[in-house]
Amino acid sequence: MLNKVIEQSKVDHFAKWFERADNIVIVSHVSPDGDAIGSSLGLWHFMESQGKNANVIVPNAFPDFLKWMPGAKDILLYDRYKEFADKLIAEADVICCLDLNALSRIDNMADAVAASPARKILIDHHLNPADFCKITISYPEISSTSELVFRLICRMGYFEDISKKAAECIYTGMMTDTGGFTYNSNNRHIYFIISELLLKGIDKDEIYRKVYNTYSECRLRLMGYVLSNMKVYSDCHAALISLTKEEQDKFDYLKGDSEGFVNIPLSIKDVFFTCFLREDTERNIIKISLRSVGTFPVNKVAADFFNGGGHLNASGGEFTGTMEEAIVTFEKALKAYEPLLKVKS
Ligand code: 5GP
Ligand code: MN
Repeated sequence: MLNKVIEQSKVDHFAKWFERADNIVIVSHVSPDGDAIGSSLGLWHFMESQGKNANVIVPNAFPDFLKWMPGAKDILLYDRYKEFADKLIAEADVICCLDLNALSRIDNMADAVAASPARKILIDHHLNPADFCKITISYPEISSTSELVFRLICRMGYFEDISKKAAECIYTGMMTDTGGFTYNSNNRHIYFIISELLLKGIDKDEIYRKVYNTYSECRLRLMGYVLSNMKVYSDCHAALISLTKEEQDKFDYLKGDSEGFVNIPLSIKDVFFTCFLREDTERNIIKISLRSVGTFPVNKVAADFFNGGGHLNASGGEFTGTMEEAIVTFEKALKAYEPLLKVKS
């Protein structure tokens, strides 16, 4: 049996909304990752199975390695179809905000969602959820929003109605937010849920291959290049990798090509803190990704130095300025956190 996690009153409250709603919009965060897309599509498949008119809208494009997911072609990109998306958002009965803890995480969609008279529910696992939804289902101890979506559907009494397609999306989100069940993945209930998803007919090995083993030659060469320029700060048990716009052009960079790069330096013995800086040409900022192993709080570093946040071991933020300035800021962060970093790992 699966443990409960989500409070009964929240399940009941949402079930009531769901029964009455005809038009539902599901939104997720900017630069959607596997959990954003997986949780959104998992919920979408379920809602469609119940005869609802549901739409998934995300602020901008998502990486190619998620495009195989059932329903991915029906996702609306806000930056391309703003007018149509605005109409759906304004006319929705219910808006489900997935895998985000603040409206700012949906970027250019925030105003439209804030202005909509729809009932709003948040389903998320990031720390410090902002208070912008009538129902807030926020459990940072749960490793993915996709898992919460599975739990919510089951608690509403609809396990039987979870299709193979929905199960594939939910599994993908659970898998990608735990690095293929290599971090944040010690909760035994995760494996109970996987067994339930297998019952739905998913091929977990194939999903792994579709997500992680379908990269281009360029991506692998880019990885080699980025790693050859890696900076290691042995004293601080830290490593830094970066990618400028010129470097992206040189390797015919496609969105998603650097996915997972930030984790690679963690495979060095005694490195437990890594940073990846990438010029985001679409948004004219430098995107920061931070990772750690153990107790080092990268979400604090992200909040203190890069206007961001996230989880203890995986966080991110943004920087406005040049790559050189971003590196200097990272080095300042190393200095500030020296007492926590210069310990024996
Ligand atoms: P990634 O490095 O994969 O882009 O992000 C890892 C995690 O950091 C995300 O799941 C999210 O929790 C958090 N994160 C990433 N970028 C931002 C940001 O700009 N602001 C905040 N508050 N959190 C972020
Ligand atoms: Mn997530």
